[in-house]
Amino acid sequence: MAKKIVITIDGWSSCGKSTLAKQLSQKLGYLYVDSGAMYRAITLYFLRNNIDWAEKKEVKEALKSINLEFVFNPKSDSSEMYLNGENVEYVIRDLLIAEKVSDVAAIKEVREFAVAQQQKMGTQKGIVMDGRDIGTVVFPKAELKIFMTADNAIRVQRRFKELYEKNPNITVEEVKDNLEMRDYIDSHREVSPLRKAKDALELDNTNLTEKEQFNKALGWAKEKIG
Ligand code: C5P
Repeated sequence: MAKKIVITIDGWSSCGKSTLAKQLSQKLGYLYVDSGAMYRAITLYFLRNNIDWAEKKEVKEALKSINLEFVFNPKSDSSEMYLNGENVEYVIRDLLIAEKVSDVAAIKEVREFAVAQQQKMGTQKGIVMDGRDIGTVVFPKAELKIFMTADNAIRVQRRFKELYEKNPNITVEEVKDNLEMRDYIDSHREVSPLRKAKDALELDNTNLTEKEQFNKALGWAKEKIG
């Protein structure tokens, strides 16, 4: 049987991390985990329950009531995020969540809560996880680490297209501001800031098609698998 490895994909917002992670996991028969969905679901819970996340005690108490689960949906051919038994995959993609998620994800207790669950999912290897701190903190010993980048304007266009399909009132300006804000907070926070791991391979997909990007990453994965 082929050796199973851990593949981490980190990078800036809207670089196409989840697209690549999904494709790789499907090709290799690996589990795909979208770690950002976990931070988004926690944010949704905090907003719905009026949790004041500046208060450590309140955050700690709230986390005790949060159960996160990924459930595979054969119709969409992907895993969807469940918060306390409710499918929240659609609602967590909203800009309202995107506006708050980086603040919530900067909280130490929130990260400890999410990272512990992420590490458990990787104990058997055969996993592709994307996020911001996967190669640096969650799986520092991963066999293949990819760090993705792309030009700002391209990232804004991609995310705008995605969000516009759901909400035609959204503006490019709003999407741009949100991406810039999240990238700033994610890379400047004290706990596990977004960084390229020293041993990560950089993948700039500004001028790559989805197929070219996939082939490049798959080549790297095959080299590691041997
Ligand atoms: O990947 P996605 O854009 O859905 O992530 C939403 C937010 O969750 C990021 O902007 C970041 O604040 C946070 N995040 C994180 N660490 C991860 C994954 C996501 O802090 N591993």
